[in-house]
Amino acid sequence: MIKFVRSGCLLLLLFLAVMPGISISKAAYAETPSPWISESLIIDSNMTEKEAFDGLDPKCPEEIRKQQRIVTVKYYSSDKKIHQGQLLIDGELENDIRTVFEVALKERFPICSVIPISDKRFRKDDRWSDDLSMEANNTSAFNYRLSTGSTQLSKHAYGRAIDINPFQNPYIKERIILPQGAKYDPTAEGTMTADHPIVRTFLRLGWEWGGNWTTLKDYQHFEKSPKN
Ligand SMILES: [Zn+2]
Repeated sequence: MIKFVRSGCLLLLLFLAVMPGISISKAAYAETPSPWISESLIIDSNMTEKEAFDGLDPKCPEEIRKQQRIVTVKYYSSDKKIHQGQLLIDGELENDIRTVFEVALKERFPICSVIPISDKRFRKDDRWSDDLSMEANNTSAFNYRLSTGSTQLSKHAYGRAIDINPFQNPYIKERIILPQGAKYDPTAEGTMTADHPIVRTFLRLGWEWGGNWTTLKDYQHFEKSPKN
């Protein structure tokens, strides 16, 4: 009986080894159209809520702070790999942001990094620094701060604006270009243009694009006002 079971196993192994289905399934695996999906995800940001809001300007009203959500997103980066990042944004806009990041991933639009400004790399005197985030070409949303060159609170202060790839998509007002050394080249990878699927998706969802402004250009910037 034992002998029979052993030889039965041997026969089964032999059968499996020569079964054509096995080589077919291997071939099918090798031909997966998106090989990068099987690669491990590169984690750029995996903050807890406490970490994500650490160092927030104490002037930020509690009702604004409570409105913010941590949204975890996947994106294709300049190293041609899929990364995981996080954004802080008004909870009302979470679905819009997920839709836009799905479009960006499908288009393989390279996004440098998506890390909340509370990260140590973007701190100046322990406060969140938009300048440091921009200089690092980081994509971010919520930051309780004033508009660039203004005394008014920015839409970022309410978590209702996002800046994407600041280095390819600078803020330009007359001679001021931010981040410093950036240049707007519509043909460069990672750049927003009026006919780009990402810009079109934002506009379809009711957002405004800073590249359409006339008094200044803020190509990295998208914002959405609350419904009244
Ligand atoms: Zn902005």
